[in-house]
Amino acid sequence: MDLQQIVDDTWNALADERGCGTPARYIPALAEVDPTKFGIAVATRSGEVHCAGDTDEPFSIQSISKVFVLAQALEREGLALWDAVGREPSGNAFNSIVQLEREKGIPRNPFINSGAIVTTDRFIGDRGPDEAVADLLAKLQNMGRDDDIGIDERVARSESETGARNRSLAYFMADFGRLLNPVEDVLSVYFRQCALALTCRQLADAALFLAFDGCDPVTRERMCSRERTRRINALMLLCGHYDNSGEFAFDVGFPGKSGVGGGILASIPGRATIAVWSPGLNRWGTSLLGARALAQIADRTGWSVFSGR
Ligand code: GLU
Repeated sequence: MDLQQIVDDTWNALADERGCGTPARYIPALAEVDPTKFGIAVATRSGEVHCAGDTDEPFSIQSISKVFVLAQALEREGLALWDAVGREPSGNAFNSIVQLEREKGIPRNPFINSGAIVTTDRFIGDRGPDEAVADLLAKLQNMGRDDDIGIDERVARSESETGARNRSLAYFMADFGRLLNPVEDVLSVYFRQCALALTCRQLADAALFLAFDGCDPVTRERMCSRERTRRINALMLLCGHYDNSGEFAFDVGFPGKSGVGGGILASIPGRATIAVWSPGLNRWGTSLLGARALAQIADRTGWSVFSGR
């Protein structure tokens, strides 16, 4: 299979539709990004990355960060994390508060905002917020084999300044005694993790452990246990696109995680990782063109986890 050809064909087939969808505006700094950006990067076992389009420009990975923080929180906290957050699709919007009251402050899964805030709290553990952020950044730089990976502080500030909804979720959970750290400390880490800026190439590279049983296939370094990696992939498939997760599994069939910056990270166990970026979103907050690109790649490669090929 000529992967570079597939990546090029997919990019060319969709290039005329660049700019479709609606970029996230509720975080003002995201609204300023050029909506016509479009990149596709596929990283394979050998570490080779097949790219087309805007794959060397950093973008705000937003909720895709939740996957990396979950992996790290599980390493720190182990199974106890599952007492604080569930593993079921929510069927509600990413920033919804409705289930939290009924379920006594325990979020449905680690990929909705409330669940990610709890996961971030456990990732911080007994450290200060700045130490936790420095640790996360160092891990990402190591996984992505690139010290240029950084945090866009302007995006983090912009989100904090307009973060009333996330503050509401966090204070609501704190009222149920679900957060171990001061709310503003947790949020300061959460906003900064969402503002991590990676290129498609760096993102596909940094996530390779997800597709290869928790190990970086190039350096053989273990990032996460085999069992946890399998379960993170399961959660990505079921909950990675909020109340659009069923549609994404139906159309694409890869474990994936979207972010409102327009990125989608897909993990195809045993084969590859794919990072796509196009800022225009569908009404559930998933990149419109990005999801279409992944559907085409799934078709061409036969890599859907539901395919027998
Ligand atoms: N930082 C965003 C928020 O908390 C993440 C949402 C997303 O990427 O889906 O609203």
